Amino acid sequence: MVKFVTKDAKIPSLVLMFGGTFDPVHYGHLRSALELTQVLPVHKVHLIPCQLPAHRGEPNATAEQRLAMLRLAITNEAQLFADKRELQRAGPSWSVDTLESLRQDYGWQQPLAMVLGWDAFLGLPNWSRRERLLELAHLIVLTRPGQMHQGSDQVLQLLKEHQLPAGEALSASPAGQILRLSLPSGLEISATHIRKLLASNLSARYLLPDTVLNFISTEGLYKSN
Ligand code: ATP
Repeated sequence: MVKFVTKDAKIPSLVLMFGGTFDPVHYGHLRSALELTQVLPVHKVHLIPCQLPAHRGEPNATAEQRLAMLRLAITNEAQLFADKRELQRAGPSWSVDTLESLRQDYGWQQPLAMVLGWDAFLGLPNWSRRERLLELAHLIVLTRPGQMHQGSDQVLQLLKEHQLPAGEALSASPAGQILRLSLPSGLEISATHIRKLLASNLSARYLLPDTVLNFISTEGLYKSN
């Protein structure tokens, strides 16, 4: 059972990096980002669309369209911030470069964590400069309903070495630990499913905000050819 935090000015608060393709952003991302601010002492969540995903094919929507959808989705949520820093870099979006850039903004004392779903975490052994990631930030690995594949030996070893000891707070240090977390709502929603529905001319309503769906319709996104 996840406990909710009450705001306490004395607890150092976390800055979170929540990167993704967001093709399109959906309630699985949005509810996770919001609930992270309710169960951990979080100061700000940077939602960062990638320019070119490093580990998958090209997105359907352009980087600008994905950023626009994200902005529409998070209006009026003060702790959620649509961050376009990866769109200002050419080439593949390596998370390690994004964390270096956040470190430049926040300095080395700030507790900083990168958020990712279990599915994304399983691919971590193939990431660029992965040993640097944990020097730069903590990792928060979210359970993703429907995605329960076992980790490889490398992934399990990483968890063994870095998983947060019971009772210790992630915000007690700037970087270096891994927290596995099941958030209260745990929504089984994926952008793949939404794109498939739309390509089949079926409604994706209630899986993502209406404002985002309206944008998709106006821009003519995710139609089958
Ligand atoms: P796709 O289906 O196109 O692969 P996606 O729904 O997984 O997209 P991404 O933009 O690739 O969305 O995800 C960004 C990050 O958010 C990843 O770390 C992913 O694991 C996580 N994530 C996506 N959907 C959920 C969800 N429903 N619950 C928790 N985490 C999620």
